[in-house]
Amino acid sequence: MARAAARARATTAATSSRTVLSACSLRALMHISVTGPVIDSIGLAGRASPGSSSRQDLTTAEVLPACSLMTGVDGLAGYPAAGNRRRGQQVARLVVIGGGAAGMSAASAARRVAPDLDVVVYEVGSFAAYGMCGIPYFLGGTVPRAESLLAYPPSEFRVKRGIDLRLHTRVDAIDAARHQVYSSGEGGTASLGYDTLVVATGAEPVRPPIPGLDQPGIFTIRSLDEAIELRRLLVTGTVRRAIVVGAGYIGLETAEALVCAGIEVEVVEALPRVLGTVDEPIAELVREELERHTRLRLGATPSGRV
Ligand SMILES: Cc1cc2nc3c(=O)[nH]c(=O)nc-3n(C[C@H](O)[C@H](O)[C@H](O)COP(=O)(O)OP(=O)(O)OC[C@H]3O[C@@H](n4cnc5c(N)ncnc54)[C@H](O)[C@@H]3O)c2cc1C
Repeated sequence: MARAAARARATTAATSSRTVLSACSLRALMHISVTGPVIDSIGLAGRASPGSSSRQDLTTAEVLPACSLMTGVDGLAGYPAAGNRRRGQQVARLVVIGGGAAGMSAASAARRVAPDLDVVVYEVGSFAAYGMCGIPYFLGGTVPRAESLLAYPPSEFRVKRGIDLRLHTRVDAIDAARHQVYSSGEGGTASLGYDTLVVATGAEPVRPPIPGLDQPGIFTIRSLDEAIELRRLLVTGTVRRAIVVGAGYIGLETAEALVCAGIEVEVVEALPRVLGTVDEPIAELVREELERHTRLRLGATPSGRV
């Protein structure tokens, strides 16, 4: 299954650059059935709840151009610099929301071209700059430690690059007119002025409108924090069956990881085929392999109540 999926991925990557882009929006939602009261005791409601606040639901007081893209590092024309004072000089501040690949790249690039710039990165999760692509391999145990997925430890950014990386801190609102962000986290709530703002908050998994998706035992495969919770559950040995919703790359990688962990897996896909972004003959090879290891339901949408 791994070889067929890898072949499919390599072929598509070689023929279509759109595939790489669409990988950003791929997502899988997974429902785990467990025996016993383990789930209750772990209490994994997490972000699987349709009602839970999205990581991207920042509120913006006013949408200004400065609020979407990095527009320069010297402050914005027409706006007073909000940065702090250093050695009697006004220093511009770049604020980045999101410590993923995009956010940390932007912060590091800005630091390189503007050594005096004040750079602050807000990341709601416990980790920054990690390879999400490795999450399924962490779930399956091929990658034994979550930390192995980090491209760099936080100290690389804080100490070596002089980037003020604030983990466990969510930006809740942006006041673009005043050039302020409002955050909440372990240290309480706070606001901070910026000259330039980069919003790099990534994508959000789609959750089908099924009642009960806020129950424990339902995960999205989208962050290392959530993967750690799920892996904790898997290693207890109490998970017997899992349903993976979505037969895109991430769904299939997750299904493979679970099969390798000895779990009975069912894959549910709304389309009549797997891997909707690759050519049909390749998808067919993957389907055959998948059916050898899982129960596959194509053209089906989860419904009813979880
Ligand atoms: C399981 C999985 C496997 C993947 N495999 C591949 C692959 O093999 N090849 C490939 O090319 N791509 C792959 N991808 C896609 C790839 O991971 C994404 O394209 C990439 O992570 C996008 O980077 P980003 O920085 O834009 O967003 P993200 O990596 O999502 O980073 C956004 C960050 O912003 C944080 N954030 C969101 N809202 C807030 C807020 N309000 N305040 C503070 N922080 C916030 C989030 O916690 C997150 O850390 C995979 C993705 C997943 C989930």
